[in-house]
Amino acid sequence: MKQAYSTEMDGKDELKHFKEEFYVKKGVLYMDGNSLGVLSKNAEKALAEVLNDWKEYGIDGWMAGKHPWFTLSEELGGKMAPLIGAHNDEVIVTGSTTGNLHQLVSTFFQPAGTKTKILADELTFPSDIYALKSQLQLKSLSPADHLISVKSRDGRLIEEEDIISAMTEEIALIVLPSVLYRSGQLLDIQQLTAEAHKRGILIGFDLCHSIGAVPHGLSHWEVDFAFWCNYKYLNGGPGSVAGLYVNRKHFKTAPGLAGWFGSNKEKQFDMSHEFVPSDSAGAYQMGTPHVLSTAPLIGSLELFAEAGMDRLRKKSLQLTRFMMELIESELSSFGFHIGNPREDVRRGGHVCLEHPEAARICKALKENQVVPDFRAPNVIRLAPVPLYTSFQDVHDTIARLKKIMSEKQYEKFPNVREVIA
Ligand SMILES: *Cc1c(COP(=O)(O)O)cnc(C)c1O
Repeated sequence: MKQAYSTEMDGKDELKHFKEEFYVKKGVLYMDGNSLGVLSKNAEKALAEVLNDWKEYGIDGWMAGKHPWFTLSEELGGKMAPLIGAHNDEVIVTGSTTGNLHQLVSTFFQPAGTKTKILADELTFPSDIYALKSQLQLKSLSPADHLISVKSRDGRLIEEEDIISAMTEEIALIVLPSVLYRSGQLLDIQQLTAEAHKRGILIGFDLCHSIGAVPHGLSHWEVDFAFWCNYKYLNGGPGSVAGLYVNRKHFKTAPGLAGWFGSNKEKQFDMSHEFVPSDSAGAYQMGTPHVLSTAPLIGSLELFAEAGMDRLRKKSLQLTRFMMELIESELSSFGFHIGNPREDVRRGGHVCLEHPEAARICKALKENQVVPDFRAPNVIRLAPVPLYTSFQDVHDTIARLKKIMSEKQYEKFPNVREVIA
């Protein structure tokens, strides 16, 4: 029955031809595209072209070639804008996730009077917390008093109403994930933004686990700022240059961390010591762009433009729903718990499978050519990425997992995490 369903769904899948564009090894079920997306032929070609431009043009590559490096960050920002529902000039490809968070907090966290605190949540990605604490310290504010963390009721999810209750008079800025990296919960960005603005609080989101997986309407929702990496669902490659969004209404806000690549492009080479920022999200760049680590995105974003976020989201929801159904029907006797929300509107692109032996089950999965992702202490993240995962792949992933559990194959591995998990 489940087999018939996968065959039927794969048969009518409008996105199935994209799988051939990606380098997934034969026999391997790659369920880790939410940690590091796989290389596409398009991205590989784009990188080769940029290298060739360097060979061909030398210094002139800044203004010559198909994708002049001087405006590449802006060009790709524009191509990324539809993925997050933003205007082209509100998006720039630059820096790293954590670096961009530093830039945006240094720009938009302006404590004044009794509004001196930052609101985050206790399940957020550690790097975000490190950045927020250090930004407070730079302003001589103690993180213990000024970083307010919304608690989770069950260790998996953060309730929107709890976040809203924590939006007190003292909060100046809110930074939250769009999708929680462990449980895969998708927060209601629109509602949280409206509630923050009612209280005169600025709000920004970490989109690492939603960009390329979930459609967004950031401009329409009036989100103040956002930042993300491009190496997960967007397949930009290890260490790919990241992205940031700033709503148009803030374009006059001077960057907290200024640098010459944030200049108005006409003025940049005046070499004046008076900084004239760009009237766009480009103002929040700092130095010379990392062109070679940006290049794969040229190719990767073409695939997203072709596939379209709505079709990708639809297939992603079908894949994760199918995976959850298989987990329930095939694995019920093995002590698993599904930790992600069940509702479509609250679910990102991955399934969060909890088990006390998760670390060694992941090792057994790898031995069986399934690439999962382990998050200590007990989470197996499985991301059936719609661009390169078929319904058959989801079916086979759970079939291999069932075999591992029935045969207790995991018992031969120690239940500890590796250095990189
Ligand atoms: C992957 C990820 C990061 C990574 O930050 P880098 O600066 O790119 O290393 C940050 N936040 C979240 C939520 C992530 O999932």
